Amino acid sequence: MQVIFYGGLRAISETEASITAFHSFRNARIPAAVIRFVQCLLLALVALQSPAAHADRGGIDAWCADLTRHLHSVSAKTCHAQDFVVADEHTAQGNALVSRDFGPRNDSAAAEGAKRILLIGGIHGDEFTSVSIVFHWMDWVRQRDASQYHWRVIPLANPDGLKAKPSTRFNANGVDINRNFQTPDWDRDAQNYWSRRTRQDPRRYPGKAAGSEVETRWLEAQIDEFKPDMIISVHAPYNLLDYDGPVSQPIRFGRLSLNRLGVYPGSLGNYGGLFKQIPVVTIELPNATVMPAPREQLAMWKDMLKWMNSNFDTLASRPQPEKSADAIAVLAPVGGKTEIKETDAN
Ligand SMILES: [Zn+2]
Repeated sequence: MQVIFYGGLRAISETEASITAFHSFRNARIPAAVIRFVQCLLLALVALQSPAAHADRGGIDAWCADLTRHLHSVSAKTCHAQDFVVADEHTAQGNALVSRDFGPRNDSAAAEGAKRILLIGGIHGDEFTSVSIVFHWMDWVRQRDASQYHWRVIPLANPDGLKAKPSTRFNANGVDINRNFQTPDWDRDAQNYWSRRTRQDPRRYPGKAAGSEVETRWLEAQIDEFKPDMIISVHAPYNLLDYDGPVSQPIRFGRLSLNRLGVYPGSLGNYGGLFKQIPVVTIELPNATVMPAPREQLAMWKDMLKWMNSNFDTLASRPQPEKSADAIAVLAPVGGKTEIKETDAN
């Protein structure tokens, strides 16, 4: 869209030059009817070529412009080239919530029953690399080994957080979206966990109620509607893999190795992996502002696909979660001596 927009500007400029030429015509005593006709024609051309004619699809143009100001490794061209679906809901700051589907390749006999992968970046707005790498991977989902799956990609789940100055983990209401999912333990544990385990860390505020935030409700709706067989959520900067769900856990993606962190009231891993029984892989990149080297990005991607391929067959036969809600109870009770887990991450 950016290219088209600039093209539009150039065209307007050229049209303005035509109007100047038209005034020269008028001085040459051309009949009034012809002048009016040409005038109308030129005005119509101006209207057609104005920016308004290239309707900003649900705010996508502004969304991309803002995004690329923050993320240097995502080009405006890349962002504008995505055929995003824009949600009806917008964030508190009026930002668009966008997703893009990549269907399985058509020539595959198995396309109809293709497994569905939901790939999410930027639930935390200050984890820039988690957004950038998802944009990079959007180029790879149609390649061999990945194109057998139906992908839904949400590169930036918390646009208000990213676009705040400075960017924030939480959304515009000060709520950590990854503590706001409507998990069954939320009412019992979320506020207590926040108060006592995190010492009311504002970066981890779960909100006044489960699902109080539009971003959270929208993500939950994506899960309900898309019905993913697997969810991959990208974060930074804890440099590890976390996993919640019913299939064999991944051991290593590139240099990232499994280090299970426990579950938090209202987290996506808790909501998707335990409550909805959908495998949720949390990728914690090593740095929130510096991208992994291209070779490392590829290594993660290949290992992830390998793990998916080897595990999808076992999904139906292993319905039991590997973590139970008891894991929360281990984290929740706190005596006089409060200890904050350094790994209260993602
Ligand atoms: Zn995070």
